[in-house]
Amino acid sequence: MPRVYNWQIGRTMSYWYSENRPQRQFGAVFDINKCIECQTCTLACKTTWTSGRGQEYMLWNNVETKPYGSYPLAWDLKVLEQLGPQKWEGNVYAGRTVFEGTPSGLRVLGTERLDIDYMYPNVGEDEIYGTVERGGHLSLPQQMWMFYLARICNHCTYPACLASCPRSSIYKRPEDGIVVIDQSRCRGYQECVKACPYGKVYFNPSTGTSEKCIACYPKIEQGIQPQCFVNCIGKIRLQGWISPPEKAKEDNPVDYLVHVRKLALPLYPQYGLEPNVYYVPPIQVPPPFLEQMFGPGVEAAIQTYRNAKDDKTLAGLFALFGSTEHTIPYFKIVGDQAVALDDHRKEIVRVPIYEPVHFRPAQDRIYQIMRSNTT
Ligand code: SF4
Ligand code: SF4
Ligand code: SF4
Repeated sequence: MPRVYNWQIGRTMSYWYSENRPQRQFGAVFDINKCIECQTCTLACKTTWTSGRGQEYMLWNNVETKPYGSYPLAWDLKVLEQLGPQKWEGNVYAGRTVFEGTPSGLRVLGTERLDIDYMYPNVGEDEIYGTVERGGHLSLPQQMWMFYLARICNHCTYPACLASCPRSSIYKRPEDGIVVIDQSRCRGYQECVKACPYGKVYFNPSTGTSEKCIACYPKIEQGIQPQCFVNCIGKIRLQGWISPPEKAKEDNPVDYLVHVRKLALPLYPQYGLEPNVYYVPPIQVPPPFLEQMFGPGVEAAIQTYRNAKDDKTLAGLFALFGSTEHTIPYFKIVGDQAVALDDHRKEIVRVPIYEPVHFRPAQDRIYQIMRSNTT
């Protein structure tokens, strides 16, 4: 197998095809701290793309409660178990990826998916982790935790789905790195369903082909963010473009959060796919759990996030999340405002970095009544 460089694990690794990066790569950042699990994103995708026959169980976008939630069932645990020890030496991953040490004849360390895996989309929902001692009571700060993990296809740089397809039906679009399945070539072998360690390919029994998130590419082509992004109630999502680290630009919002400030981290980098959806880790969760999920940069990322409110560039960039339906390739800070810029660095939208706060006197002199400020 060819050797390719995966910057997320800090080393080269085996992959079925040679390194072939697209002209530019779809990238996104999700701020987990702001997700309220309203599932509006899930519905936005469902009603747009998967309301047809054979698609009933498909959730190209789903939101699960960690640590117990998962759809398909135990998608991550099954892969983690197969990988064995996942040691990091600094920023270099010393364990094996899903492409390494596979049994002969197999391109990817895959997972068999059973019907039962798709029967409990909200398993573990809102369940918290932690114990209360017998006779104990809830105290503050709470020691118990959970968080909501919103997931779409990661449009990986080294997609396992693509590597596994014996008919070469899956490809990365050269213009934007979006991973799609050619429906006219697919014969429904379902190797991709087994291979994707994120459980993000679904078999459609009605058409006999496999299907997956297409990053809403008809919108991307128009410079518009995907459905699940623009409908996000918590404004946790930003879509733009991610560069390889050596080409990172300070005024590219995804590059800035991922490469410059190292605040947004990939999901399970040890799988080896170089996924292109990045997460700002939840600050209330113990770092050892998060390190297993987002790699060794977790503690530094949490520290940076805690200080973000006093950092005008970061606070401004977070204010741009959910501020426009347009893709945000560039941004800048002007005074107390954050400005989103298009490909030609023309202004798309401008927002205040800090929301204005107004205090009103408790006594309304005109109406001679007392009011209380509750928020
Ligand atoms: S719409 Fe946004 S806030 Fe609501 S569940 Fe989805 S990602 Fe979370
Ligand atoms: S997340 Fe899964 S389906 Fe999406 S590109 Fe990566 S391997 Fe393929
Ligand atoms: S990007 Fe588009 S296709 Fe993919 S999960 Fe979101 S709404 Fe669905």
